[in-house]
Amino acid sequence: MKVSKFGGSSVSNAEQIKKVLNIVNSDEDRKITIVSAPGKRHKEDVKTTDLLIRLYEKVIDRLDYISKKEEIIQRYADIIHELHMSDTLLSTIDQTLESYIATLKDKPSRLLDALLSCGENFNAQLIAEYNNSQGVPTRYISPGDAGITVTDLPQNAQILDQSYEALYKLREYDEKLIIPGFFGLSRQNYIVTFPRGGSDITGAIVARGVRADIYENFTDVSGIFRANPSIVKNPEVIDEITYREMRELSYAGFGVFHDEALQPLHKDRIPVVIKNTNRPDDIGTYIRHDREINSNNVISGISCDKDFTVLNIKKYLMNRQVGFTRKILGVLEDYEISFDHMPSGIDSISIIMRSKEIQHREEQVLNDIRERCEVDELSVEHDLAVLMIVGEGMHRIVGTANTITHALAEANINLKMMNQGASEISIMFGIDVIDAEKAVKSTYEYCYNGQCLKI
Ligand code: ASP
Repeated sequence: MKVSKFGGSSVSNAEQIKKVLNIVNSDEDRKITIVSAPGKRHKEDVKTTDLLIRLYEKVIDRLDYISKKEEIIQRYADIIHELHMSDTLLSTIDQTLESYIATLKDKPSRLLDALLSCGENFNAQLIAEYNNSQGVPTRYISPGDAGITVTDLPQNAQILDQSYEALYKLREYDEKLIIPGFFGLSRQNYIVTFPRGGSDITGAIVARGVRADIYENFTDVSGIFRANPSIVKNPEVIDEITYREMRELSYAGFGVFHDEALQPLHKDRIPVVIKNTNRPDDIGTYIRHDREINSNNVISGISCDKDFTVLNIKKYLMNRQVGFTRKILGVLEDYEISFDHMPSGIDSISIIMRSKEIQHREEQVLNDIRERCEVDELSVEHDLAVLMIVGEGMHRIVGTANTITHALAEANINLKMMNQGASEISIMFGIDVIDAEKAVKSTYEYCYNGQCLKI
């Protein structure tokens, strides 16, 4: 059995929906389909999910929201009319939006989740109805009926284990099933959404629940590129990548697949394939537990993410002071700041975090560290970029760091820090944000077009 998920651009208009259903109906094993909300139809367009956020903002500010609501209804009306379907769903959409607004307007975060869920929910109903009208027995299943039970944290739902047993029962249906992505139901009976881009997470949960043989994630590219195509011209498409590599690359800015979606899959080793709705015959990228390593794929991918802040701390004889790092991390914990890397020397330590973690309270955090940790020097650097070189093959070969530092030196890039985890699956280089693109280009050239690393 295959579980297939189609992202926003794949279900953004009637033509795309027809492509999706051709793919779904062409293969008997594609029993369960997860859909996103209609995404952008062209570059300047607005995603339905963002239209729903605009509607929410109007309601919360007690402003006239009717035109925002109508824009949303119009998105579905356009699709319905192009597919020559009946208008009945449009009044359901209107009534549902109004009833959420009426009942939840005094509970803003509940209202936001309820409205956000509408994007995928209406789309799933529409697509199921259309497929039925084309003679393919199809059933819409809401996340509640499917058994997707989640924690009660608005916009940040996490799946509860009890869901998996319930989801297994979906195997009993004979029809094709269409399930909306992006949300579940909490035990308190509230609609709760996953983080943005979370339809991938629903797909992964359902794939694990029904013990699918494969989870197909359809998007608008024919797989995952080894580097950002807006930086590197025609980068290679990755044919196979491991869950761990994918996690590292998604962390560092590869947006094709949600990193939280890997968790349910890797537990049961369900493979994922990233495919293109517009070119379904392209092979795509497979994400699995293991992969074949050869001389051309030692490094899976290169990415560079911006907007990091570093705290540089110096303390003479730091290595001899038991508990010094714990005190510093204690301050971060008090502010609920999570950090990403911590390269250190004998008398110094750098703590690297996403800038948004410390924004608006930097001064207080620095003061607390000064007061509580008796540091000799404390400085902060903004505008750090993190270059990540990711590849399972690196632990088998000598000289990866050498190749990369060579590529960076060649491009005249100052290397501020370096960090390699014990698993040797990735190496992180801290560089100035202005060098980010140059660094990706230069390391890509070295790793794939020139002095490629050999096993
Ligand atoms: N529609 C949601 C978003 O735009 C979820 C998704 O498409 O995966 O974030």
